[in-house]
Amino acid sequence: MSVEKMQFQAETKRLLDLVVNSIYTNKEIFLRELISNASDALDKLRIESLTNSELAGDDESEIFIVPDAATKTITISDNGIGMTRDEVITNIGTIAKSGTKDFLDKLREASGAAAQELIGQFGVGFYSAFIVADKVELITRRAGTDSAVKWTSDGAGEYELDDCDKNSRGTTIILHLKKEFCGEDEYNFTDVYEVERLVKKYSDFVRYPIKMNFEVKGKPEEEPTIEIRTVNSMKPLWTRPKSEITREEYDEFFKQQLHEWEAPLEIFHVKAEGTVEYTALLCIPKRAAQNLYYSDYEAGLQLYSRHVFIMDKCKDFLPDYLRFVKGLVDSPDLPLNISREILQQSREVKVIGKALEKNIQKQLAKMLKDDRAKYEEFWAQFGKSLKIGVYNSMFDTKLKDSLQDLLLFQTSHEGKFSTLAEYVERMPDFQKKIYVAVGKDSAAIEQLPQMELLRERGLEVIYLTDPVDEFTIDALRNYAEKDFQSITRENFELDDAESQKVKAEVEEIAKTHEDLLKDVKEAIGDNVKEVRLTSRLKSSAVCLVTGEGGPSLSMEKTFAAMNNPLFKATQILELNPNHAVFKKLEGLHERGKDTPEFKDLCTTLYSLALMIEGVLPNNPAEFANKITDLLTK
Ligand code: ADP
Repeated sequence: MSVEKMQFQAETKRLLDLVVNSIYTNKEIFLRELISNASDALDKLRIESLTNSELAGDDESEIFIVPDAATKTITISDNGIGMTRDEVITNIGTIAKSGTKDFLDKLREASGAAAQELIGQFGVGFYSAFIVADKVELITRRAGTDSAVKWTSDGAGEYELDDCDKNSRGTTIILHLKKEFCGEDEYNFTDVYEVERLVKKYSDFVRYPIKMNFEVKGKPEEEPTIEIRTVNSMKPLWTRPKSEITREEYDEFFKQQLHEWEAPLEIFHVKAEGTVEYTALLCIPKRAAQNLYYSDYEAGLQLYSRHVFIMDKCKDFLPDYLRFVKGLVDSPDLPLNISREILQQSREVKVIGKALEKNIQKQLAKMLKDDRAKYEEFWAQFGKSLKIGVYNSMFDTKLKDSLQDLLLFQTSHEGKFSTLAEYVERMPDFQKKIYVAVGKDSAAIEQLPQMELLRERGLEVIYLTDPVDEFTIDALRNYAEKDFQSITRENFELDDAESQKVKAEVEEIAKTHEDLLKDVKEAIGDNVKEVRLTSRLKSSAVCLVTGEGGPSLSMEKTFAAMNNPLFKATQILELNPNHAVFKKLEGLHERGKDTPEFKDLCTTLYSLALMIEGVLPNNPAEFANKITDLLTK
């Protein structure tokens, strides 16, 4: 095949524009990215060689970096797995990374600081080369094949592919540096010592030697000789004693190892020598991945045995609710050629996983206790995972017990986040249940008619604003032997004397209004199961509540969004007998239950109650007409 000119896939091109226009403040990171790719390619070669011993040959795995002032280039080579022509097209011409399109769409809408923040979350890997280069050549030969291909691009819309010669396997990337990176400005990536410094800074613990040429000057009259030196120490960070590792070293390690662009929020470095010996170096990233809750998110830890990389994305260590935890496990008790299938059955993996899970739970509890601000930062990103964990642990009371005290909810108490224990601590003696309310955000909940009375009585309410919250609370059922009570469910009542008195009064009124309530129900039809009087309202005329058990209105919405329209909430319309509208209803009822005026008022009240719950009435246009009529009457 001869020269082929090809277009970048649309998303790739947009991302490249972004990179070329250099939104990345740190210009040095391209080196870390390319070294990281080289190291991954060497890992892949090693793993494929396990089943195909002819692939590798006997040359030592290495990464070679050559900065060259004369040609204004820096070249990064590896003798790893390499790529075929097709692999180059799919890996380099296309952005396979999930979430890229979402990211770019969001970025288009954001600007200024918000855009900068978004960008910080997104790694561009190979394309970071275009931060410093105006032309990039990639020459690669797949191990086990004898043809090589050369990819060239200036980072604009196109790239070129051509056959070429390469006498050994692996990949060589030549960056033609923009002139501001050749020493005219702050950076000089053609300078051996500067590049050496960067390799030490970003890639010291890469487990393959990173080699460079150094000029060694002899006597003045002699020509300098060239000496090849390994620049990185290659010592895996996790094998060093914890006390000797600085936070900066950990941060750099995770950025390098996990292709993260930000230092992690929290780090766990665990060594154990019990029945199973292992070291784990784990972290909680600062931000949740864009696709954390989508099926294309790949959770899992890297697995090493005696410091040798075995496999990536090993899902068997941590439970799903800790899917956001990243890092690695190194254990001499796991064999080098273990397969994913055997791993799943492995007793060692189970022992390690259990211990890590416990450890993470303990550290989170500690963070919650000692550093609330940090925990809330964690919660904002990953709280949903733990809540889903509780929900899925419906039949695992042990897990529920260990997670329930890690949960945070926003409550009406100063609008702050609170643990369940803190809520219970503040409960007045007469309060028997934990009150919760569902809404799309705290503002919406605060405006619920049901909130008025609780506010007046000084009773605290937990706000359930995330669709998963209600499911989580359902799964918990109770906390500290106190049941949860939704203020928008039937059978809600307050326990104080004043409320009990109002309740008794309302019950009396109800006795004499049975016909009215029956006729209101008839006018509204089968959408509601029942119409009744309530003592839970103060200045509002109506509210809609859902039956005990079964889905709530917002669960119904969640189910409908998941194409599950069969889960319907049981609706109950409640009327406030102390409201002027109720008197009006009584008046119209006396004139006849079949008059259009009575029927209209009934259906309008029902529509209003729906809207308060954030649900559109069945026929919005008809509802609007009725309101307009009322306004003009
Ligand atoms: P990432 O490394 O996060 O997957 P990159 O954009 O850096 O994203 O690289 C895309 C893909 O290109 C890699 O997943 C890999 O398959 C391939 N690739 C990049 N560099 C090399 C290399 N030096 N050797 C072999 N394959 C490589």
